[in-house]
Amino acid sequence: MNSKIKGINTICTHVGEVEDKQFKGAVSPLYMSSSYAFQDVDVKRYPRYFNTPNQEGLAKKIAALEHCEAGLIFGSGMAAISTAVMAFLKVGDHIILQGDIYGGTYNLVVEQFNNFGIEYSFSKGTNKAAFEELVKPNTKVIYIETPSNPLLKITDLKMISDLAKKYNLISIIDNTFASPINQIPAKFGIDIVIHSATKYMGGHSDMCAGAVACSEEHREKIFHLAKNLGGSLSDYTVWLLERSMKTMGIRVRAQNENAQRMAEYLSKHDDIKAVYYPGLKSHEGHNIAKAQMKGFGGMMSFELKAELGANLFQKSLKLIKPSMSLAGVESTVLSPAETSHALLGAVERKNRGISDGLIRFSVGIEETEDLISDIEQAIKQSKKKHKITSS
Ligand SMILES: *Cc1c(COP(=O)(O)O)cnc(C)c1O
Repeated sequence: MNSKIKGINTICTHVGEVEDKQFKGAVSPLYMSSSYAFQDVDVKRYPRYFNTPNQEGLAKKIAALEHCEAGLIFGSGMAAISTAVMAFLKVGDHIILQGDIYGGTYNLVVEQFNNFGIEYSFSKGTNKAAFEELVKPNTKVIYIETPSNPLLKITDLKMISDLAKKYNLISIIDNTFASPINQIPAKFGIDIVIHSATKYMGGHSDMCAGAVACSEEHREKIFHLAKNLGGSLSDYTVWLLERSMKTMGIRVRAQNENAQRMAEYLSKHDDIKAVYYPGLKSHEGHNIAKAQMKGFGGMMSFELKAELGANLFQKSLKLIKPSMSLAGVESTVLSPAETSHALLGAVERKNRGISDGLIRFSVGIEETEDLISDIEQAIKQSKKKHKITSS
């Protein structure tokens, strides 16, 4: 099937299907073998070689969605990130990373890279100068994440790919928050696209997986390290992920719509100080987001008035669950100051604009009326407990 001529939901549903030649079933058969014949075959198959029938099929779907030549499926988002990044770095090399990145990626860099003799710098912002001032003669990779966690900062993809070309760097993006439904970085010249498939690709908060999409040439390089590190995904989970991805387009579009509606509601609320959502005209990255995204995504954050108490608010929610992860069909909230950004300390959090009242909101597919009434009752509860009578 030529994926280039297919629409996004057709890719989600069909590209990479494994044909059931034996029984003509409607869905991909699941091949659980970890042992395949080595004689009289064209490919030596083994799960850690990323080439079982189900792994190869799903990799095609990921590649098609990201408008790339090739894909690889990993055991987690971090397996995908660590392998893809390390594949392009060796002793004495330097990597530039966006300052606002996923906590696990930040930890990988600061906890491990010194051990491998790899130098790194984090950008102070997301504009061109913030990245360009960090380029050194030994810089090999530029790594970004947009929209970023938790303030949904937007980085200009074209600007990054131009910088990468100018200085001969490999550009890598963590595209998890947008998903390929909303953002196709390869169209803007970004070399390597990574996903925590635990999030929108999986979409049901029931699996952990990762994915990479890139050129054949880059895939070879990443695969070379991947087979040594061994971060492949079990075929059963590959199969489940294929199943989940069939509905990714309709899920994510529903989440986009819900998030826009929730962001508009929250931004008019007297008890909410600020809302960070790229779909709002007031968001500082709105114009760039509009130019490079097809939808603004299901993630946002908002700041409660301090006196309400983020903790009490979250405990008072009945429908929306406080949860560590994100991007499921169910709405969840999280307090970055208490979780993902707790280790940074109060001063660094303040520098980054992460207040104690900040709530990260992963908007699901529920009816927005129900989400709104849950938030209304939680605010009322918090006020009652804190004996706030005004507004
Ligand atoms: C969750 C997440 C990751 C890490 O993925 P895992 O599947 O948990 O390993 C990386 N980047 C972003 C933006 C994430 O949200």
